Amino acid sequence: IHSVSKIHRIASIPGDGIGVEITQAAEKVLHVLAKTLGGFEFDFTTFDWSSANFLKRGWYMPPDGIEQLKNHDAIYFGAVGSPDVPDHISLWGLILPIRKSLNQYVNVRPTRILPGTTSPLTTCKPADLDWVIVRENSEGEYSGQGGTSHGDTTYAVATEVSIFSYTGIHRIMKYAFETARSRPRKKLTMVTKSNAQRHGMVLWDKIFYEVAKEYEDVEIDKMLVDAMTVRMVLNPESMDTIVATNLHADILSDLAAALSGSIGIAPSSNLDPTRENPSMFEPIHGSAPDIAGKGIANPVGAFWSAAEMVRWVGQEVAADKLMQAIENVTKAGIKTKDLGGQKNTEEVTTAVCQEIERLF
Ligand code: ATP
Ligand code: MG
Repeated sequence: IHSVSKIHRIASIPGDGIGVEITQAAEKVLHVLAKTLGGFEFDFTTFDWSSANFLKRGWYMPPDGIEQLKNHDAIYFGAVGSPDVPDHISLWGLILPIRKSLNQYVNVRPTRILPGTTSPLTTCKPADLDWVIVRENSEGEYSGQGGTSHGDTTYAVATEVSIFSYTGIHRIMKYAFETARSRPRKKLTMVTKSNAQRHGMVLWDKIFYEVAKEYEDVEIDKMLVDAMTVRMVLNPESMDTIVATNLHADILSDLAAALSGSIGIAPSSNLDPTRENPSMFEPIHGSAPDIAGKGIANPVGAFWSAAEMVRWVGQEVAADKLMQAIENVTKAGIKTKDLGGQKNTEEVTTAVCQEIERLF
């Protein structure tokens, strides 16, 4: 008897630079994973929404782009950005509208030191750094609101408006507390800058303590973002789950990734927890024009993001196997240059594929 295969429809947006290289690697690994485990398949539809095409066509995403994405179970995203396009144009042309239009109000960024890799913090043992950063992904400092007057003159004045709503803060706090509760240490650190910013950040503090009452089993603490950067470097073992605003968590998760060994290993999930819209999975790094086209990009962040996507669409066993394969490969010292290794993207990809086959 042949069992019917479940097909997961994935929208793939490779984007620019190393985004293209690591997306290709991730798709390869996902095909091997599905083929080896059986019972499910991935059906990828590729969208050529890149900076190169923006320069030719004048748009990143067509007018019905969001509708096209909605026809999928999940979205896999490489990276967007090019030296030929100002970064705020590419971000607002593609990734930010997707996150906002598809109600992906949570961005989850786990950070760990993978086996066989080392933290630049010389005293940091792998067990000392195991965080999940929960980033508010829909409002705050990236509201896009504001404007400029007297633009090209020395009288120029610009406003960049941060928007914080009760609804937006409350739902991210709920997600963060649930995440903290699901992890062994049951600990949540909340980050703001409420000593200097007296409206939105104070509302964050208030709602944090309000939601905390529903989670008495979760240990809580509160940090100012500047002190938080110090604590992440000096006392990484003192934290577990971290919740912060769009901007703060963006910055802190780059720091977290660097502290865990490389920006090239860190994954992220843009989630619509209501599941009304597809969620989107992407490594946290950008298009890295400096190494694009050389075939040396670390694909681990892309694979880890793929594993999170596999878990989200309901294939937990496959997700665990993929993570195991990634960790066995790093443990064996098969690593790219950013992790101190000597392998290229293709060699790491092949090793992960072989390890998946060996694990079954
Ligand atoms: P973007 O404009 O798209 O954000 P960027 O120039 O800011 O791109 P990032 O990808 O954010 O580049 O990363 C900064 C640097 O980190 C890169 O220039 C690159 O050297 C390194 N880097 C990032 N991702 C990887 C990776 N996957 N493997 C190896 N090195 C990487
Ligand atoms: Mg960048």
